[in-house]
Amino acid sequence: MRALLEKIAAEGEVVAGGVLKVDRFLNHQVDPHLMKRIGEEFADQFRGERPTKVLTLESSGISPALMTAYELGVPLVVARKRRPLTMTGEVYRAEVYSFTKQEANEIVVSRSLLDGFDRVLIIDDFLANGQAALGMVEVVRQAGAAVVGIGIVIEKAFQDGGRLLRSRGFRVVSLARIASLADGVIRFHEEVMN
Ligand code: 5GP
Repeated sequence: MRALLEKIAAEGEVVAGGVLKVDRFLNHQVDPHLMKRIGEEFADQFRGERPTKVLTLESSGISPALMTAYELGVPLVVARKRRPLTMTGEVYRAEVYSFTKQEANEIVVSRSLLDGFDRVLIIDDFLANGQAALGMVEVVRQAGAAVVGIGIVIEKAFQDGGRLLRSRGFRVVSLARIASLADGVIRFHEEVMN
């Protein structure tokens, strides 16, 4: 998605350890116009799969996931990283190891929000090693629901997540694929392939 690639090139910053900081339009300050276009793109890509819910993980996945759910006309479910006091009923839970934070988190979703009739589109901001996405896949599995696709705003194609998810048969659509962040330079997959 050209507008996204241009935004990453103009405003993305490489942080030590192969991490891309996009705090000016996605993770801290959010560009609503870009999020709207991202939502339209994911909706176009996955509408044919007839999703009944969009699922994301708090907090950075919420902006693109909300716009996608809006375009598809379905609810957005936000998996929580800490169980809030108000979440009193039964929950689905999965363990997610974060390589950026080097810690394991439990993610929880209320059982009342997903059931065996749901067709779930998973949306997240980044795909690195795939642990966040796999945690959400596990929640969907516990609900007896189906994963109809995984939409990622920025895939770090030099890490294993994309390969892992695709090898398990999931349809993964990434709007930007980063081939390398070596030496502090952002190189896009498309550019390396040309
Ligand atoms: P994974 O579970 O695929 O290893 O990592 C995905 C999660 O880690 C995303 O939900 C995102 O929050 C975070 N993440 C991984 N790599 C990056 C990165 O380079 N930049 C930012 N901002 N977040 C990242």
